[in-house]
Amino acid sequence: PKRTATPAQPSLSVDDIARVKVLLPLPFPGPLDYRVPDDMVLSPGEIVVVPLGRREELGCVWDDESAAPPDFAPPPARVVEASKLRAVCTRSDAPPFPPGWRRFIDWVAAYTLAPPGLLLATALRMQVSPAPRPALGWVRCEMPPDLRLTDSRRAVLAQASAVPLTTTDLARMAGVSSGVVRGLADAGGLRSVPMAPVGSSPSPDPEFAPPDLSTEQTEAAQVLVDAVKADRFQGILLEGVTGSGKTEVYLEAVAEALRAGRQALVLLPEIALSAQWVDRFARRFGTAPALWHSDLSPGLRRATWHGVLSGEARVVVGARSALFLPFRDLGVVVIDEEHETAFKQEDGFFYHGRDMGVVRASLSGVPAILVSATPSLETLANVESGRYRHLILTSRHGGATLPSVTLIDMRIDPPERGTFLSPVLVTAMEETMARGEQAMLFLNRRGYAPLTLCRSCGHRMQCPNCTAWLVEHRARGILTCHHCGHVEPIPETCPSCGAAGSLTPIGPGIERVLEEARARFPDARILVMASDTLGSPDATAHAVHQISNREVDLVIGTQIVAKGWHFPHLTLVGVVDADLGLGGGDLRAAERTVQLLHQVAGRAGRASAPGHVLLQSYACDHPVMLALASQDFRAFMDQEAAQRRPGHWPPYGRLAALIVSATSADVADTLANALGDAAPDQPGIAVLGPAPAPLAMLRGRHRRRLLLRAPRNVALQPILRAWRARVTIPAQARVDIDIDPVSF
Ligand code: ADP
Ligand code: ZN
Repeated sequence: PKRTATPAQPSLSVDDIARVKVLLPLPFPGPLDYRVPDDMVLSPGEIVVVPLGRREELGCVWDDESAAPPDFAPPPARVVEASKLRAVCTRSDAPPFPPGWRRFIDWVAAYTLAPPGLLLATALRMQVSPAPRPALGWVRCEMPPDLRLTDSRRAVLAQASAVPLTTTDLARMAGVSSGVVRGLADAGGLRSVPMAPVGSSPSPDPEFAPPDLSTEQTEAAQVLVDAVKADRFQGILLEGVTGSGKTEVYLEAVAEALRAGRQALVLLPEIALSAQWVDRFARRFGTAPALWHSDLSPGLRRATWHGVLSGEARVVVGARSALFLPFRDLGVVVIDEEHETAFKQEDGFFYHGRDMGVVRASLSGVPAILVSATPSLETLANVESGRYRHLILTSRHGGATLPSVTLIDMRIDPPERGTFLSPVLVTAMEETMARGEQAMLFLNRRGYAPLTLCRSCGHRMQCPNCTAWLVEHRARGILTCHHCGHVEPIPETCPSCGAAGSLTPIGPGIERVLEEARARFPDARILVMASDTLGSPDATAHAVHQISNREVDLVIGTQIVAKGWHFPHLTLVGVVDADLGLGGGDLRAAERTVQLLHQVAGRAGRASAPGHVLLQSYACDHPVMLALASQDFRAFMDQEAAQRRPGHWPPYGRLAALIVSATSADVADTLANALGDAAPDQPGIAVLGPAPAPLAMLRGRHRRRLLLRAPRNVALQPILRAWRARVTIPAQARVDIDIDPVSF
């Protein structure tokens, strides 16, 4: 415990009083200085109440020096004269924040230029709220021999697993009333366990069911286990073809952390994925991990938070925000599907979950394992420069072969007028389903049609708040904007020329593909998987379950189907519009399209029957299509690297985006131009823009963008801080800084 903190520089007054830095949950540039009353002893991490203006605020006693590296740490704050310091009011009994957590907050704040207090805000509320009593959930158990089984009880049992589910969730998933679940439980057909990883819930057991790994898997797993044992930071890329058992392999690193009595964090790009993941985890370790995502109920959230802090929650699987949990003793960080752009947060404050995951591991001095079938160029560059180790799994588990990939040239083999599936694809679907195997159609577009056009005057139905077309959702009878959520009824007449019945949907969304599939295959059992049809992780789990159980012949989905699902009976994947992601002039579009479509392709043929993938494209000679067809990603990534290297584009240079936004176009332009005029003028540093941002209007705000590009050895943060400070930002406008933007 410390009483005095030495000021960073001597102040003018005689200063022998005890000072302390306190971080408040407010958008200040850093912690504020307070005086420690004589009868108080304070340590960093503790929670205190301090005066601020005329009110009192909760805050966290902070470390004297920022943990961020000097090249991008914020400049030290001016030392306040002793006589002007106000005293800390009280010290709270809430548990203190651990040092690794504080270092991480400092680091992330300095790197992303976010005010550290804002990163503290949510965490502080969690920390001071007491851990709730755990809610109970139902799991499967040994059945009493005399249990009476009805159809609805059987439906409940089919949904129950080792993962505890609430009565409501279980009832919803089984399509029965809550009474059935309670009745079954009363009859001894279900066992209750705490939902949260607190108190009596069992710890994952690393020896519960060790897998039988292939030679290749064993070697990779051994390297990971040794890395966890070594107990120091290392970046490791675990690359493996789809279905090679990457999960089984990295779970051995998790097992090692458990054996060492430490915690493990597994980050998934989207929490929808966690359904199958949790099941697999439970099979390996005998119990469920703690989940962390934005859909958790407040009670479970608090319970998990406190479980992580106390160390009782041993393994957390979560979305990127799980990085900000106060781990007591982290032993390993795994970032699954590391190439996914869903790891990037662009809302409120901007950070990349993958990169911050590596930082989290490095600040804790433990390995970071990055997992992918199609690693990002960033990660490959780190492998190439020797910063990361590289492990490769070359074959699918259990003798399954990689799917064949065939391009359908839509110029040569077009669909009939008014349809979207080419005859080749339709035939392949027919044959697949006739064999009793499953088929999947992938189209990364929700709704019925992406554009509604007036055939009389050419008017396009546009969002009033965004630079975007309104998307028809026919099932709901609406037009909606996928960016701001604006909704309007589908008009009878054209709002521009008044013509009746002239509005026409242009192009397909998955509802329209569904319509076509229903017409062509009236007997097929079709399941739609899209983020708007599957509201919750449980609904996703249910859909996945139905596919694995062969209750479905045809799956039609958006990007949610491209995740790491294991569908053993699925042998055909048809990509309705393989060119979809390539427009838009984003330098990273090609890389992203390859990753996405390869990931979708990887859903096919994961068990004994071989898989086939058909890609419908109007650009069959595009490098992306050639790479997908040849499955030679290394060559493709080499080309990508060769294109980005000379111009210092990421990952061969640093990039930041300044996004100016205002409700008035004039204000946005004026500020963007002022920023342009005040742009840093340094050799090697390029400023591009101002230009309209990729969505020039979003939620009613006009957006302009400037890009700052520099060689890798230049830290952008000091340049950006100085740049921002040279311009006055009017109250009606804002400037968001996005370090390492994912689109450029
Ligand atoms: P990836 O993540 O590389 O696509 P998965 O980890 O999903 O691959 O593995 C594919 C399937 O093979 C899963 O059902 C997994 O449980 C199974 N599998 C992989 N390795 C083994 C193993 N050694 N023993 C048993 N099953 C395995
Ligand atoms: Zn909109």
